[in-house]
Amino acid sequence: MSAPTVPHPDDDLFRTLVTQSRRGIIVTDPDEIILFANPAAEQITGYKAEELIGSTPEILKSGQTSAEVYRDLKRALDADQIWHGEFVNRRRNGELYLEARTISAIRDETGAVRYYVSISEDLAERQRYERRIEHLATFDPLTGLANRAAFMRALSAELELARRDRQELVLLNVDLDDFGAVNDRLGADHSDRVLTEMGARLRDTLRHVDLVARLSGDNFAVLLGKSAPGTEPDCRDIADRLLGSIARPFTIGDSAVELTASVGIAGYPADAGSADELLGCARSATHDAKAHGGNRACRFDIGMAERNSELRRLREELTHVAERGELVLHFQPQVSLHSGHIVGVEALVRWSHPERGLMLPAAFIPLAEECGSIVAIDAWVLREACRQMSAWREAGLPPIRMAVNFSARQFRQRALREMVAEALAAQDADPRCLEIEITEGAMMQDMTAAIRITAQLKELGVRLSLDDFGTGYSSLAYLSRFPIDVVKIDQSFVRDIVTNPANAAIVQATIAMSQKLGKLVIAEGVETEEQLQYLRRSECDEVQGFLFSPAVPADEVARMLREGARLDVAGLREAQARETILLVDDEPSILSALRRTLRREGYDILVAGSAEEGFSVLAKQPVQVIVSDQRMPGMSGTEFLSRVKILYPRTVRMVLSGYSEISAVTDAINRGAIYRFLSKPWDDEQLKDEIRGALREWRELYGRGAA
Ligand code: C2E
Ligand code: MG
Ligand code: MG
Repeated sequence: MSAPTVPHPDDDLFRTLVTQSRRGIIVTDPDEIILFANPAAEQITGYKAEELIGSTPEILKSGQTSAEVYRDLKRALDADQIWHGEFVNRRRNGELYLEARTISAIRDETGAVRYYVSISEDLAERQRYERRIEHLATFDPLTGLANRAAFMRALSAELELARRDRQELVLLNVDLDDFGAVNDRLGADHSDRVLTEMGARLRDTLRHVDLVARLSGDNFAVLLGKSAPGTEPDCRDIADRLLGSIARPFTIGDSAVELTASVGIAGYPADAGSADELLGCARSATHDAKAHGGNRACRFDIGMAERNSELRRLREELTHVAERGELVLHFQPQVSLHSGHIVGVEALVRWSHPERGLMLPAAFIPLAEECGSIVAIDAWVLREACRQMSAWREAGLPPIRMAVNFSARQFRQRALREMVAEALAAQDADPRCLEIEITEGAMMQDMTAAIRITAQLKELGVRLSLDDFGTGYSSLAYLSRFPIDVVKIDQSFVRDIVTNPANAAIVQATIAMSQKLGKLVIAEGVETEEQLQYLRRSECDEVQGFLFSPAVPADEVARMLREGARLDVAGLREAQARETILLVDDEPSILSALRRTLRREGYDILVAGSAEEGFSVLAKQPVQVIVSDQRMPGMSGTEFLSRVKILYPRTVRMVLSGYSEISAVTDAINRGAIYRFLSKPWDDEQLKDEIRGALREWRELYGRGAA
């Protein structure tokens, strides 16, 4: 039979198409003698074109393709249809392969078959596709870690083995803290980059025997693998290492992002027997870690599950809490230290829960922040606070400032300025009387955004206040960067302000710096007279705290305003005019002897039986000279006076001491903590002289004309 020639060689386009195609193309004559095979067909079959041409597709047969396939092929071609199907063929090297082909007949004008054309599918593409499907079913595309399905399969398998071998398993559930806010702030692309990097860090921190997976969103899980017996690392250690690696700042674009995570730990067989239960326990423990402020690891315990179902219920109840009308505002007065009058209030939210009664923010604000309902709560608080402002105004009360708290999330809401403007307009409230409190932490999360948002809020004419100052970055340098009007010193500094020189120094520096920048300073949580007086003398502007009043209902504020309730700040000024000496000794007989000696000198004499009492006296009124015994239980005289030097640098300090304590005293003198040392027992005349000298010294250094 004379072989017809293949219909193409002169046709450039055809040649290009068939030679460059990635699909294997074979053309046969009506008797199935191969006339043409392209390079892809050579590559797939392993035969050279010369070897294929002249033979039949029979040489590719493996005997593994079912007869039905060939019958089907013949039927289709006879009926002049295009056939699609798969063969199991054999390559030249004997290897079997699966090949999908499309075969059709090309007929002449009379309808007789001239050629059969067979085109294979692009298998490389298909294999890539299949591999990808398989990969997707196992791996998380963002981090390349195992995905949830693969992790749960592995966990079930490991549990089977552990059951058989009576071994233990430990599972860690890792959830980023407040990732929602990061997401809001960075946008999806950048958040994805954080997650990718997070995956890599987790992987790098763990041992190769540990399995780490991304279960969803910002939730990761780790199944600790078994290492050689006896070398099992403590799971707490591993959790701490994970927390440490997460806490390193992430650099995204040109901003640094800081994250923390909560880790829950659960184990087989102690806590649960199945994969789902074990993960559930680890999750509960994670919730507990979050409830304790995050950035920590918690081990599952039985009570936890109960607590968490409680929390779950609360979280559900928190959605729409504002619509259900269960929120209440209380108001805590803020008092001026210059006039003693109430100059403002801080609106503090309470949840009047149908079963639990009045709940304080600590019991629900962190939950609301976690599940996002905080945004609706803060919006309600803002509207309600504005409504209250206008209600007081209409009742004819003097205008005072109203401070409301914004959570970090609220602070980052889009259209925040519009929301505040609307709340004010709806009640015709004066923007200058509204103060928005933003915590230092929320402000520092993203400085660039914070500067933009605060500037927008300032355009409305509202006041801005930096809440909980000192608890976050404590950097005074940041104060000048934001257009804030008020700095609120956190209660943790106020609490021990009269005894802790470090905190006192921070407070004084904050006050000095803030005032230089034209900002007002409020101290929070003022509970005692001593704290009040110390703050007053440190030139703090305002105080807020239980000493004057806790947060109270609106009517109570109205009553205080009507009755002109105020703080007594006048007594302090009078006390400043006299010369005052403080004597500190734990022996009452010595105190009365000293008092007798100095009786006729014309000083105001104050006494204290211990260093502790001494601090309290010093806080309440100005003292120029302090004479302290050296040997006292609790705190020595030199230690007491060293602290006093920092708390009250404008004092002249003397210590009364026996010769045996002389070295401690000399040391304190050298450090400048003590001006002079008086020996015990003392000579009355010499003592009087020393004190007169000390007062002269004081007047030269700090004295006012009158003294
Ligand atoms: P904060 O803004 O620092 O509010 C001051 C908290 O200190 C209030 O607690 C107040 O009652 C309490 N406090 C005031 N004076 C004293 C004192 O002399 N001694 C002591 N021990 N505590 C004092 P509260 O009302 O429990 O609120 C706690 C926190 O909850 C607030 O801290 C604030 O961060 C948050 N919060 C309250 N209301 C809201 C709100 O409407 N929205 C948002 N986002 N957070 C709120
Ligand atoms: Mg506040
Ligand atoms: Mg605060």
